[in-house]
Amino acid sequence: MLIDSHCHLAYPGLVEDEAGVLARARQAGVGGFVNISTRRDEWERVIAAAERHADVFASVGIHPHEADAHTDVGTAALVAAAAHPRVVGIGETGLDYHYDRSDRQRQQASFRAHCAAARATGLPLIVHSRDAEDDTIAILEDELGQGSFPVLFHCFAGTQGLAARALALGAFISLSGIVTFRNARALQEVARTLPEDRLMVETDAPFLAPVPVRGRTCEPAHVAHTARFLAELRGTAPEALAAAATHNTRRLFSKMQA
Ligand SMILES: [Zn+2]
Ligand SMILES: [Zn+2]
Repeated sequence: MLIDSHCHLAYPGLVEDEAGVLARARQAGVGGFVNISTRRDEWERVIAAAERHADVFASVGIHPHEADAHTDVGTAALVAAAAHPRVVGIGETGLDYHYDRSDRQRQQASFRAHCAAARATGLPLIVHSRDAEDDTIAILEDELGQGSFPVLFHCFAGTQGLAARALALGAFISLSGIVTFRNARALQEVARTLPEDRLMVETDAPFLAPVPVRGRTCEPAHVAHTARFLAELRGTAPEALAAAATHNTRRLFSKMQA
């Protein structure tokens, strides 16, 4: 059994056929879904999907792209929304200096507000980091120094150095379909050497469909391709890889068990 630790069921491409998307995933052996929010106006919808389906869970957060549009959403709003029994994580949050769609200072302020919410609730922080390695680590080190909370680097596509720094902070690392891409040799080397007790899998659907369905709309069912690829890459049995990733996901998102 697999868990898609990061998907966007409320996004166009998936939301139109929620029942079909989930049925195809379950057919492919996916028995859990973390439905991630990126804007304040998505929170009700990701939580509603988690209320409709026993195997769907929700997160509350503001994507770094959306920081400019959400200067009014701080720690208190996140903590209040996270009290819902189906909300298992805080995010996605973080820093994206690749697209720079929001002001970097505002991204950092929003990231810190999410860190404080993770600390206050004990829920894991779901981190998106792109071309912002040094600032991501510096902020996490500073915030963790004020009191610990669990951390997940989602859709990891960073260097071996970033992986080492993330692991040193106690973080989990989730791999998406990017790791299956032919041009992802460096990332594959990182994925091959990640400790088995920190590794997770995700789709980031509807984006980033893995080989052999690359280019199509990504669905949570496709996490099975990524897990199979990783098992082969790491020289482990697919069942063992799936069991480890699922165990890690349940350990991190501990509220899933409640
Ligand atoms: Zn992301
Ligand atoms: Zn995402």
